[in-house]
Amino acid sequence: MAAKTFPLDHVRNFGIMAHIDGGKTTTSERILYYSGKNYKIGEVHEGAATMDFMVQEQERGITIQSAATCVMWGNYRLSLIDTPGHVDFTAEVERSLRVLDGAVALYCAVGGVQPQSEQVWRQSEKYKVPKIAFVNKMDRVGANFYAVMDQMKSQLNANPVPMVLPIGAGETFSGIVDLISMKALRYDMKTLGKTVTEEEIPADMLEKAQEYRQKMIESAAEQDDALMEKFFAGEELTMDEVKKAIRKGCIARTITPAFCGSAFKDKGVQQLLDGVCEYLPSPLDAGAAVSADDETQKREPSDNEPFCGLAFKIMTDPKSGGKITFVRVYSGTLKLGAELLDSTINREQRISRLFRMHAAKQEPLDEAHAGDIVACVGLTETRTGDTLCDPDHPITLESIDFPAPVISVAVKPQSRQDNEKLGVALHALAMEDPTFVVTFDQETSETIIAGMGELYLEVIVDRLKREFNVACDVGAPQVAYRETLTQTVESEYKHVKQSGGRGQYAHVCLKLEPQEPGKEFEFVNEVKGGVIPTEYIPAVEKGVRKALESGPLAGFPVVNCKATVYFGSYHEVDSNEFAFITCAMQCFKQGFLKAKPQLLEPMMDVEVVVPEQYMGAANGSINQRRGRVEGMDERGGMKSIKATVPLGEMFGYSNAIRTVTQGRGTFTMIFKQYEAVPASIAKTVIEKRIKEGKVRPSAE
Ligand code: GDP
Repeated sequence: MAAKTFPLDHVRNFGIMAHIDGGKTTTSERILYYSGKNYKIGEVHEGAATMDFMVQEQERGITIQSAATCVMWGNYRLSLIDTPGHVDFTAEVERSLRVLDGAVALYCAVGGVQPQSEQVWRQSEKYKVPKIAFVNKMDRVGANFYAVMDQMKSQLNANPVPMVLPIGAGETFSGIVDLISMKALRYDMKTLGKTVTEEEIPADMLEKAQEYRQKMIESAAEQDDALMEKFFAGEELTMDEVKKAIRKGCIARTITPAFCGSAFKDKGVQQLLDGVCEYLPSPLDAGAAVSADDETQKREPSDNEPFCGLAFKIMTDPKSGGKITFVRVYSGTLKLGAELLDSTINREQRISRLFRMHAAKQEPLDEAHAGDIVACVGLTETRTGDTLCDPDHPITLESIDFPAPVISVAVKPQSRQDNEKLGVALHALAMEDPTFVVTFDQETSETIIAGMGELYLEVIVDRLKREFNVACDVGAPQVAYRETLTQTVESEYKHVKQSGGRGQYAHVCLKLEPQEPGKEFEFVNEVKGGVIPTEYIPAVEKGVRKALESGPLAGFPVVNCKATVYFGSYHEVDSNEFAFITCAMQCFKQGFLKAKPQLLEPMMDVEVVVPEQYMGAANGSINQRRGRVEGMDERGGMKSIKATVPLGEMFGYSNAIRTVTQGRGTFTMIFKQYEAVPASIAKTVIEKRIKEGKVRPSAE
């Protein structure tokens, strides 16, 4: 079949980023409906939304997995990449931001810019993703488009430019004014908003519409020197010029074109889609993909370049049970059956099936082109974040940043059969998501799963049961503490065993130093004159790295540390690799305990939102939990308290806050940083770990 290449300037790969409950699922549903792929509108509360095809998501009403769905809007091809709203799933947000070219930042017209929206905005800025804004739920009582514009300025430091204005708000919300055409748009409810009629702008809104149109034109002029001159010369700018300039500013991220409507009441979504096509970047605007280790190595978004792409999502096909890898193609052509190189792990891979995902159906393809987002079967070893490329033209793109897990639970299979299946299931889940970590605790024979949040781990356990048919008992959630040292020390250890026959001998001197937070562990060899032969140095490093996995204080991983081996000795006959590994481990442990070690705990950015009369109770609940109140704010007629609270104190907080606020308080939390645990609490944690057999008491 001859390849038919879709014009790249008519491709939009975009996602919707929103606070949970903002209306992302409803808006995605309406997009599928208006673009004609879906005929029935599935309401979220019925659990029929097409994007959320995983069962748990439907039950919880939140979008967890990022599925890419392809729709046509006029002569544009849109790939909608689903991003989750819940912060526990930040890795999902990161991975989708990495591969999309533009995004819709969606806000609730009442709730406005909420804490999670701030975090996602920051993440999207990190990946330089151009955005347009959509203020949803204009039909709700208290909806205020202009207040959200102000919040975008003050809280996100954004420069929103309204492209439409709402007609009415709350119960009186009846349509929108398009500031380009200067027409009022009304939606016919008999066709669920599919029929849009253009009318004159209501007389009482005309002045406001003119004022905002003028602001829009000024913003456009600011994006382009030639337009600016024309504007100051008093010449009229054409609407084509204005749209082009707004597009330029949007792609340069100096402005955020803003739209509004009500997805639920079927108003304004078509104009949002027009906005996606008009203002968000195409793969051509997004530019070349750049090698992670050599900036001069690039792949332009063109079919004439060698193939390269990024695997950004792995999931299990709900139908076949097979593994599906979502790939964003940056350059060249990806062909069915062709030999590919996974350059991240340096393995050849081959694709046996290739397709484009529509909401409910898969469209088989023979090849995919630059700018495409496709699903592949056959990439058995490829992990999330890996680069795929033409083996004759290797390149490795920057991988996706994934945060370390902050919370863990022990899972215990209920039967022997469950035990056998557990390993396979956990391996498959870990391939899908690099923030999900599985370990086996030798001391207690427990399997420990760790992730970014409590809800996240609940979802994993649920998937074990449903998708893999593995039933598990789950322990209480545990905080992922860390250990570190606060002083530089030198440590010497001799490992000598003489038990008849051949003995064991190793002698190691290590210098241990604290490192800045976040820096990877560093091992340095400064041994002079071969006092430890070079062949044993890797064994020393191996021993130290092993010791880092389970810290001497309480058996938690050691972070922010550097180790230098600078002296030692060996024995011609009795020294071997094993002896040096054991010796280095002991040497590290002994030194670490002398280096004023500290236990670190994950601290969370918490925001509690309550009606004013519950401020005292909410503040009290934070103080009780060793929290620091960092500030207070107004949020949609409620009070918000921002605080930093240790994760370990936050278990069960949703019940607690409901109880003290008669069910009216809510909260959100996001991992912030690791901080030292106060000494008295550290003592309790360490004693508990000793009792559980996770660490041996130190000889202090
Ligand atoms: P998500 O969590 O961002 O995916 O949000 P959902 O699409 O699941 O919406 C959350 C809730 O808000 C659901 O009960 C929706 O029916 C409701 N909702 C979504 N859009 C609107 C809207 O435009 N107006 C109103 N009044 N409710 C909406």
